[in-house]
Amino acid sequence: MEFIPNEQLKLLIQIQEKDSQIIEIVEKQKSLPDILASLRVNLDRDQGSLAAANTDYDNGTKERRSLEGLLKDTEDKIRKLKGRIPEIKTNKEYQALLKEIAVAEQEKSDIEEKIIILLEKLDNLKAIRTDKERIVADEEKKFQQEKGKIEKDFQQLSESLTELESQKSMIGSQIDPKLMAEYTRLIATRRGLAVVLVKNEHCHGCHIRIPPQIFTEIRKNDKIICCLSCQRVLYWKPD
Ligand SMILES: [Zn+2]
Repeated sequence: MEFIPNEQLKLLIQIQEKDSQIIEIVEKQKSLPDILASLRVNLDRDQGSLAAANTDYDNGTKERRSLEGLLKDTEDKIRKLKGRIPEIKTNKEYQALLKEIAVAEQEKSDIEEKIIILLEKLDNLKAIRTDKERIVADEEKKFQQEKGKIEKDFQQLSESLTELESQKSMIGSQIDPKLMAEYTRLIATRRGLAVVLVKNEHCHGCHIRIPPQIFTEIRKNDKIICCLSCQRVLYWKPD
């Protein structure tokens, strides 16, 4: 048997095709912000990591400045102590001053050692920071590229939607208003599926078995027959 549906049934099948495509596009559009959000999570994480590396480096730099200040103070102190040597009158005073100088020299040496260790640490922190800067730059570039792509996809889908809506209204204008109202009701209440195929004598919408007499009628495709269970419009197509 050939597939020659009556005119109204043919229009219903066509409008259902448009609605199914519309639903698919709307779903696709809905998923796009999620894709972008997951990319944003990666970028945020890397930016957070870079901020922490910056803080570590800045703290290290502050510590270095404070140690350098301390070193200068200690050097001044040593200079002043040594400046007092010509004024010394007794050996006891001289020994006491030498001891004081030795203590200050030890302090100076300790600070210098701390600075050397800190400079090494700063080199490391700088390398880490540079590495993180590179990662963030890469991630930002990737994010912007993906964002551009997603925005373009969204725009294309919007254009397809407009086109489909106009095709749909053209088809809808040829459908009997009562039938169209019923179709619209079914679309709203049957998860976007109002017109379905009968396959293996089963409704493709609710999967109930179609009684043989009704199936024979459906195969003719010459009138509008609805599923007794889900009320969807049924049609038949040869395999
Ligand atoms: Zn059904």
